[in-house]
Amino acid sequence: MPELTLNNGVTIPQLGFGVFQVPPGETQRVVEDALEAGYRHIDTAAAYRNESGVGAAIAASGIPRDELFITTKLRNGEQGQAQDAFQRSREALGLEVVDLYLIHWPVPSQGLYTQAWKELEKLHQDQQIRAIGVSNFLPDHVDTLLAEAEVVPAVNQIEIHPTFQQSDLAAKCRELGIAVEAYSPLGQGKDLHSEVVALIAAAHEATPAQVILAWHLAQGTIVIPKSADSARMRQNLAAADIKLSPSELDAITALEAGARNGSDPAVAAFTQF
Ligand code: NDP
Repeated sequence: MPELTLNNGVTIPQLGFGVFQVPPGETQRVVEDALEAGYRHIDTAAAYRNESGVGAAIAASGIPRDELFITTKLRNGEQGQAQDAFQRSREALGLEVVDLYLIHWPVPSQGLYTQAWKELEKLHQDQQIRAIGVSNFLPDHVDTLLAEAEVVPAVNQIEIHPTFQQSDLAAKCRELGIAVEAYSPLGQGKDLHSEVVALIAAAHEATPAQVILAWHLAQGTIVIPKSADSARMRQNLAAADIKLSPSELDAITALEAGARNGSDPAVAAFTQF
C-alpha cells in the first residue's frame, strides 16, 4: 500500500476507505470487511453518525493501533465548540489519539472556521491528534486560514474525480505543502460509465473503478472510495497495482466537465451537518 508523508512527517496510506452514507447499524460490519480486505485508513465524520461503528470494528479487529490511520471531522454546527466536539468523536471512536481531524466545511457565513482551527491547533499541540487539516476549503478559505494559522493544514479533502477535478485548487494546495485528498473519487459512481475509462480498463484487464483510482494515485492524491460490498472493496484496493501510461492519464484528465456532485463550499451553510 503506497504511503504519503504529510507536511508534519506523519505518514498516511494513500488509498483509504470512506464511510459516508454507510448506515450506523451497518458500519461495524462494513468497516470490518474493509479491514479484512486490507484497508488501514478509514475516513469518517461526526456528521456521518457512524463513528461508533468504526470504533467497534477497530476494537474487534485486533489490528495494532499504529497500523491504522483514522480520520474524522468537526461538524459544521460545532465549529464554536471544537474541543468538546473532538472529545465526543474520540470517545465514539474509542481512540486515545485521532490520526487526522478535519474542519468538515468552511461554512463562511458562520465566520467560525479560523476560531475552530485555533482549537484544533491546541489539540494537535496536546498530541491528541497527529495531524490537522481542512475539507471543502476553496482558495480564499485557505488564504484566510493561513493568515491566522500557526500550523499549515496537513490535508485539504475536496471533491475530485475525472469530471470535476478542481485542478487550480489542488495545485495551490500542493504548492503550500497541503496534501490533496479526493472525496467522491469515483464521482459517487457516476464517472464509472465513461467510454474513455472503459477502453483503458479493457486494455489493463481492470475495472473502470480501478482505472479512475489509479489515475488519482498517479497524481499523488489521497483517495477514499466507499463501497458497501466486500468484492468491490478489494477491487478498489487493488488499484494500487495499476500503472497507467502518460497518454492514458491525459485521456482521463480530458474528461473534466465541471460536474460537481456535492455542495458548493462557497455557499454551503448546512449547520445541522
Ligand atoms: P465514491 O466516489 O467513493 O463512490 C461511491 C459509490 O460508488 C457507491 O455508490 C459505491 O457503491 C460505488 N462503487 C464503489 N466502488 C465501486 C466499484 N469498484 N464498482 C462499481 N461501483 C463502485 O463516493 P463517496 O461520495 O462515497 O465518497 C467517498 C468518501 O469520501 C466518503 O465515504 C467519505 O468518506 C468522503 N466524502 C467526504 C466529503 C466531505 O465533505 N469531506 C463529502 C463526500 C464524501 P457500493 O457501495 O454499492 O459499492
